Amino acid sequence: MPQYYQCRITQRYHTILPIPQELTRKPHLAATPRDDVLARMIRDRFVASGFDTADLVPYDLLLSRPNHTNPNLITLTNGAGEEVFRSAFKEIPLHEDDEDPEFVHSFNAYTPAGLNPDPGVGVVYANYGRVEDFDELDRLGVNVTGRIVMARYGKIFRGNKIQHAQDRNAVGVILFSDPLDVALEGVTEEAVYPNKGWLPGTGMQRGTTFMGDGDPLTPGWPSTEHAYRVDKEEAGLAQIPCQPIGYNDAKVILEKLRGDQQTPESWVGGLEGVEYNLGPYFKADFSDYRLRLQTHNYELRARSYNVIGTIKGEVEPDRYVFIGNHRDAWGYGGSDPSSGTAQMLETARVLGELMKDGWRPRRSIVFCSWGAEEYGLIGSTEWVEVRAYLFLFFSFILRNKIGGLTMFHVNTDTCASGPILHAPGSPLLWDPIVKIAKMVPGVRNGETVYEEWEEYEKLRNHSTPEMRTLGSGSDYAHFSFYCGIPCLDIWFRRDKNKYDISIYPAYHTGYDTFYNIDHNIDPGFRIHQGCSRIASLTLRYFADSAIIPYSLEKLPTAIKNAFEKVKEKGNGEKLMAIYDKFPLLGEAIDNFTMTTSGFVAKINQMKEDIDPVTLRSLNDQIMKLEQIFIMPAGLPGRPTVRHAIFAPSQFDNYATAGFPGISDLLYGYDSLGTEEMTARQKEIRRHISDLTILVQRASSLLEDFHSI
Ligand SMILES: [Zn+2]
Repeated sequence: MPQYYQCRITQRYHTILPIPQELTRKPHLAATPRDDVLARMIRDRFVASGFDTADLVPYDLLLSRPNHTNPNLITLTNGAGEEVFRSAFKEIPLHEDDEDPEFVHSFNAYTPAGLNPDPGVGVVYANYGRVEDFDELDRLGVNVTGRIVMARYGKIFRGNKIQHAQDRNAVGVILFSDPLDVALEGVTEEAVYPNKGWLPGTGMQRGTTFMGDGDPLTPGWPSTEHAYRVDKEEAGLAQIPCQPIGYNDAKVILEKLRGDQQTPESWVGGLEGVEYNLGPYFKADFSDYRLRLQTHNYELRARSYNVIGTIKGEVEPDRYVFIGNHRDAWGYGGSDPSSGTAQMLETARVLGELMKDGWRPRRSIVFCSWGAEEYGLIGSTEWVEVRAYLFLFFSFILRNKIGGLTMFHVNTDTCASGPILHAPGSPLLWDPIVKIAKMVPGVRNGETVYEEWEEYEKLRNHSTPEMRTLGSGSDYAHFSFYCGIPCLDIWFRRDKNKYDISIYPAYHTGYDTFYNIDHNIDPGFRIHQGCSRIASLTLRYFADSAIIPYSLEKLPTAIKNAFEKVKEKGNGEKLMAIYDKFPLLGEAIDNFTMTTSGFVAKINQMKEDIDPVTLRSLNDQIMKLEQIFIMPAGLPGRPTVRHAIFAPSQFDNYATAGFPGISDLLYGYDSLGTEEMTARQKEIRRHISDLTILVQRASSLLEDFHSI
């Protein structure tokens, strides 16, 4: 590609990072007064950075809260009816940064208030609460019907755990963080927060349990004032009570469980002296003990704000590059999300400085501080739902509105939870992020972030950094899975070569504090700085390059790889037996690969003085490429998930799958009855046919317009 089309990226101005102490000084749960204070502060910072617009955009949403005067409790009583144990309902302060007296109680959002009416129902330990764990319990003859399920956090989304327990007629769920996942250097005072980053036994992971995205009362349409809202009962919220606790309290319950069946070896966690017996009964010494789970959560309609700031593009103001980060936290939000907010504010400041020097981006840049992400990506989803039609169909300027076309969205939720760059995203962005990472100074000992990234991946036997597509779990979801806008999710995370844990230990607890960031995760704030450097360079690269710099050829390659993966485990033969035209999908993908290479070769041969009309139409082709894979009616049975190739599967919100429609349709296929199987086969044939058409359309999009 001629050098002319590359932007000249500079790294000036990234010398001082504003300390994110102010952001993390107090808890800022969505739609609370402190959250609103931060929203206004962020707007004021956008204004101070010289943005063209900076607005608070309100939505009235269904949220969920614990009862502050009547805490959720788990109690144990002995045979004499005396209470012998009462669970903690919030963290014990361990450092001045975590001792806010108003700190939010431990709860799981959108689980109902309730109690187990018969406290003698028994408790079953269900490992991580996955489908395979419940299947294993079935196999062992341990029934959870009418009982309380106790499961450890990790592996899958907490909402799925509750759903699985509910599907099997459990009456309640207790979730806990196991030391094996959050305290790998032991549970002594010296080994955990505040002295180290590991979680103490009093830390409790809060979090939503809502399985959808957006306001539960307006699935698929925006939560505007006039909008129709479904009844709460139709919103698909959890039906059984659930309470998260720390491992100190979990131990008190687990150590009393009797094991009539042998616990599978891999189910044994890290609590010392605990056998992790499956229950449901208590051991002989405690056989007359009774466990009661009481929760008092309630739902409310509350107003939450997105803060949207824009820098208007000079040449193509109707083309948008987005950067987003959520603002709300379950507590102080040290890592999640205030490390991301801090870097976004720094990025805003840096671009503001460049504007003072006379720079203006070619395309518009939009900064988004999303509200109520923690409850289910609500602020970003509602905002996109208002504008989805603009993203898909229009390419002209809408005065005073965010309209036109979007070509890129970069998300940073938790920018700092460890030192290793992790940047899952659309394959169209895989080369650009590598290029940018090579330009940013290392956050540890390496010369560049890329060098550190590569060194880390080599230890994991990957010759180059492994690029991944997006799973669910943050604000890019609706941009990507609903609108087909290429998204990148930038964060620095823990070093898996040292400790292979699924999430940083203080995640969603009262110990995710400024002190934890400053002392344990990012002393010196170099990770924050690295994150902000990557974000600002990426924004400029996409906002300023004349030809949109997607790695076009990575898209068909990734589709081809996903296709090969779909065929694994005998599924290729199965799909072939269901639909003999299945191989045509493979042929269409091969054809798309060739067309893309031809298109890229054409771009590379272009002269530097490309005329504006040709440039505009070329960029249209590039920008629309991923959106071709959007199915207007959604994936089979999932109207709000419309990306046919890269979206999470239905049965685990956190996991990534290629061709999610096929995986969903094959789920449970073998155990279907004859009639259901015939119906499912029809759906599969239809879906494969749709996919083939989409891939063929992607090829035609890249062909010369003369050949229409
Ligand atoms: Zn977050």
